[in-house]
Amino acid sequence: MYNFEYKKSLGQNFLKDKNIVNKIVDAISFEDNNLVIEIGPGSGVLTKEILKKCDQALIYEIDTRLEKVLSKELIIYKNYKLIFEDFLKADLKGDLKQYHYDHLYLIANLPYYITTPIMGKIIDDGINVEKVVIMIQKEVADRFIAEVGSKEYGQITVFLNYFFNIDKVINVNKNSFVPKPKVDSSVIRLIAKKDREELISFEYFKKLIKDSFRFKRKTIRNNLKEYDLDVVNKVLNKYGLTLDTRSECIAYYVFVELSNELCKK
Ligand code: SAM
Repeated sequence: MYNFEYKKSLGQNFLKDKNIVNKIVDAISFEDNNLVIEIGPGSGVLTKEILKKCDQALIYEIDTRLEKVLSKELIIYKNYKLIFEDFLKADLKGDLKQYHYDHLYLIANLPYYITTPIMGKIIDDGINVEKVVIMIQKEVADRFIAEVGSKEYGQITVFLNYFFNIDKVINVNKNSFVPKPKVDSSVIRLIAKKDREELISFEYFKKLIKDSFRFKRKTIRNNLKEYDLDVVNKVLNKYGLTLDTRSECIAYYVFVELSNELCKK
């Protein structure tokens, strides 16, 4: 309709299946006085459904060519602010200061090439988002929701499980998009944990899990050679594990305890 040329480099695969759009928005269960952050509205197919249900929305789109499309598509809605900016460079905390809300949600059909940096930013910026519903590449979703001991379980699983309870909403076939991407997708929901275990140092925790998963096939003894292995061993033994355990068999809360005990030293 708009003669728009999709940019692969910006992950521009737009949703065409209305049923999936509804499933994404319904996965939020909106509460009163909410604010939704949307990343990458594209032509606004998901945005319109969000705006019907939310109180206010703050939307980031990197591609200014979409300004014309979005101003037409969203013309009847007044409850949003659209910022043409790279979300990764946005002053999210500053932008949020202009709002009063009781519940903060994030909804997005994400540009897949920056899924992990986007999740990192949401956490690093400390914005206290309560629920996140995102469409991501299926393979990546499987890593986010992986069970301890599975081959998909890794650094990102541990990191996200510390902050969120994560579940899969639905798998989405490539035919639900224009243009059709090469990979299948999944919609996942992340709900912030209210009573997280305290971390003495978040930076230390991040480094510890990065080091623990450096060589996936190796034991924790090998991956954490430079750490105090007596302390590591003591914590692992509490959970029936040893230094010969591989990181993929260690639950996130054990990493939290390891991080805190090693930090005290
Ligand atoms: N939400 C639309 C939908 O569901 O049809 C479009 C989703 S499309 C997968 C990803 C969108 O994110 C595109 O509109 C793209 O231009 C935008 N985008 C890509 N990188 C971005 C970034 N760094 N910051 C903000 N938006 C970005």
